Amino acid sequence: MRFLVTAGPTREPIDPVRYISNRSSGKMGYAIAEAALEAGHDVVLISGPVNLTAPRDAKFVSVSTSDEMFDAVHECADQCDVCILCAAVADYRLANVSDTKIKKRGEQFSLELIRTRDILDSLGRQSDRQFLLIGFAAETNHVEENAAQKLREKNCDIIIANDVSSAKSGMESDENEVTILFRNGERHRISRAPKKIIAREFVRIFHNSAIKMFDKNNVMITERN
Ligand code: C5P
Repeated sequence: MRFLVTAGPTREPIDPVRYISNRSSGKMGYAIAEAALEAGHDVVLISGPVNLTAPRDAKFVSVSTSDEMFDAVHECADQCDVCILCAAVADYRLANVSDTKIKKRGEQFSLELIRTRDILDSLGRQSDRQFLLIGFAAETNHVEENAAQKLREKNCDIIIANDVSSAKSGMESDENEVTILFRNGERHRISRAPKKIIAREFVRIFHNSAIKMFDKNNVMITERN
């Protein structure tokens, strides 16, 4: 199968030397890309700026802003069987990016922010989509409840609920613990383990779910080779 994976943060520029971003390391997305390659799948990895080496056999697309990630995903998604949107895309960007470095001003200073385009939501709205759609919900409170709501609102097939309130798992860590929520209400918990191990479990589960989905839709899947 062909997997699309987004990973890492996005950077939303303020001026030529500053930006808004977040703590995403990209480790989970890169581990999923590696695990999918290991299992014999084709992989397109669309990544924001991270300090990781891209897997050699993946088709690698490097992006910086949420707009660039949106365009890159839309260019590839329809040729993929499984789309995993693991990136921590910024929710807001600057209404106006300054061409020159902003000077210090008075004691208080405000920036006007506007919403970025939601990539996951835009794919979920495609009525004729032929790929399995997976989102991530990084939450600090009411983790599973918020994730279940996101699954419904963004119309994905699977959402990964991820508690990022603890330093031991989630953002920047090498380990994670997650609950996988399926569209039919089923839940599957994976207790704390290295992201590489969790990634293998994800790939196995996503592959099986995609097979079921394609069986139902009676669509041919392009297997590798
Ligand atoms: O709504 P929230 O940002 O918590 O949703 C997280 C999920 O949505 C992740 O899968 C993330 O990759 C995706 N997302 C996106 N585009 C955005 C914001 C989030 O694809 N602009």
